[in-house]
Amino acid sequence: MDRFDVIVIGGGHAGTEAALAAARMGCATLLVTQSIETLGQMSCNPAIGGIGKGHLVREVDALGGLMAHAADRAGIQFRTLNASKGPAVRATRAQADRMLYKWAVREALENQPNLTLFQQEVEDLVVEGDRVAGVVTRLGLKFHARSVVLTTGTFLGGRIHVGLEQSSGGRAGDPPSIALAQRLRERMPRTGRLKTGTPPRLDGRTIDWSVLQVQPGDDPVPVFSFMGTRAQHPRQVPCHITHTNEATHAIIREGFDRSPMYTGRIEGAGPRYCPSVEDKVNRFADRTAHQIFLEPEGLNTREIYPNGISTSLPYDIQQRFVRTIRGMENVRITRPGYAIEYDYFDPRDLYRSLETKSIAGLFFAGQINGTTGYEEAAAQGLLAGINAARNAQEREAWVPQRHEAYIGVLVDDLVTRGTTEPYRMFTSRAEHRLMLREDNADLRLTPVGREMGLVDDARWSAFETKRQAIEAEHARLEARWLKPAELMQPAFVEVYGEPPTSTACSALDLLRRPEGSTQVLRSLGLAESDIDEAVAEQVEIAAKYSGYLARAQIEIDRNQRYEEAALPSDVDYAAIRGLSNEVRAKLIAHRPETVGQAARISGVTPAAVSLLLVHLKKIG
Ligand code: FAD
Repeated sequence: MDRFDVIVIGGGHAGTEAALAAARMGCATLLVTQSIETLGQMSCNPAIGGIGKGHLVREVDALGGLMAHAADRAGIQFRTLNASKGPAVRATRAQADRMLYKWAVREALENQPNLTLFQQEVEDLVVEGDRVAGVVTRLGLKFHARSVVLTTGTFLGGRIHVGLEQSSGGRAGDPPSIALAQRLRERMPRTGRLKTGTPPRLDGRTIDWSVLQVQPGDDPVPVFSFMGTRAQHPRQVPCHITHTNEATHAIIREGFDRSPMYTGRIEGAGPRYCPSVEDKVNRFADRTAHQIFLEPEGLNTREIYPNGISTSLPYDIQQRFVRTIRGMENVRITRPGYAIEYDYFDPRDLYRSLETKSIAGLFFAGQINGTTGYEEAAAQGLLAGINAARNAQEREAWVPQRHEAYIGVLVDDLVTRGTTEPYRMFTSRAEHRLMLREDNADLRLTPVGREMGLVDDARWSAFETKRQAIEAEHARLEARWLKPAELMQPAFVEVYGEPPTSTACSALDLLRRPEGSTQVLRSLGLAESDIDEAVAEQVEIAAKYSGYLARAQIEIDRNQRYEEAALPSDVDYAAIRGLSNEVRAKLIAHRPETVGQAARISGVTPAAVSLLLVHLKKIG
């Protein structure tokens, strides 16, 4: 009863993906969390995805994870961001009904074979020698496992700030995790504090919607999961847009002397790319307005999430400044905005598998590794769950590389460079972002997921059908040869100019040209009209970017020589001649696992990388 292969602590976005992954891989898994009621709870904004984040969600989905499926079940407004830009930066975003989202997560967990749920706070780890052996809960119950995944989010030593008022909490309404935080501070080498914040929630009945700009979702409505359908979506509703103004900013400034941030009460750094409204007013003093999206919290509630005015200013200031905003002159706050400070652990003390270097079998995922966001948490949770399961099964860790997945970029950034402020994903963090698109996440990762036991038969069969259809359509277009006479026909000349080419060419060549598209080929009778959109999209993107993708692959293959060259943990850097003292000190502090990782440590030069490669050759 108390022995498992894998124990996951925490039922947030990291923990739920970790538990599901481990259970899907055949491990007897226990998910122990403070409250079953809060499984899959969205602590802050009711939305999934966005640029960089949507990419992570699709990758989690391609590996059989839950987040995209839950978003399809709970999404009340869907949009494709950057739709007019290149495919690499297009991203799906779903506004979610909080309650529906939680229910979708809970239903998946309760129906997952091999998974046991238990409501208890974990207060300590059982450690035997240098290995984790289980957990101890508040009631003194002990559970044993070969691997443990810790995903406690913002709860470790959580401290909530509203103006100069402070209280303990994991997030509003939930208790913090104090005992475990204390034990971990004693056990882990490097720890720090970070902070994040959330806006006040509003009573939608007190907003004048008639004066606000409406923001509808996309039509046709995007679908998040590769296995999802529009029929899964609940009723769709619009969001609204309003703005702060100079009167708002003046009141916000009045609160600076009681701001926990500006009076030094908060030590931890906040998310640079998701700043509080007081931070925006302070940092961009010349801006006279900031945009606010008024997002519904759900279909069966009138509560509204005002995206863009996260704040930890005193409540009286919050109350005054919201009423200066257009449409919100009579608004009532239902929940005050606040900031939360919490413990995190330096991710450089983790292997790329997310196992801690100091305690074998112990994995960390999510906010405690210094990240922010549900999607970043889910991606790490999935990876930690996979590797906790593989650890329990005595198999080697799986680590996606930077050119294979945003999950690989995320983990490599964290464990190689560490972070001193909440880390979020952007497409600009990936050097091969045209390879790492949302639309091809399944082609990149589903075969790996299948091999690891994460992908069920239904998904695999759908995937195989799609992959075969892509190959067949590509081959068909390549084989459809057009002679110059055919290309001279008016319909072709109208699209491609006169003549499109002087020699014969294939339909695939026509697709590749700047004027070419599936749409154009269809109008010329060269592409099937009933072909699946996702299949046509893959054929078109692969054709259009084939030159770039081939060049990127050559570069990746070239770098592969050192990218995965393993640096044993006992390398004697002091004995490598020619390394500067600075580089030597950095390598000793970081202990990178591969030469590729070493090369990405700031200050490690190409010359130093060559010396490492020579050294590796010498030691054989
Ligand atoms: P969480 O979702 O926090 O889940 C942690 C889980 O662990 C909870 O279920 C908790 O009950 C459980 N737990 C904790 N301790 C124990 C224990 N000892 N024993 C058992 N169970 C335990 N993200 C953004 O992207 N942008 C934002 O602007 C943003 N603002 C935020 C503002 C606030 C106030 C908060 C609280 C969060 C905000 N977030 C924001 C962060 C977002 O909520 C997290 O990134 C995400 O939820 C992290 O997921 P997680 O799984 O790591 O942790």
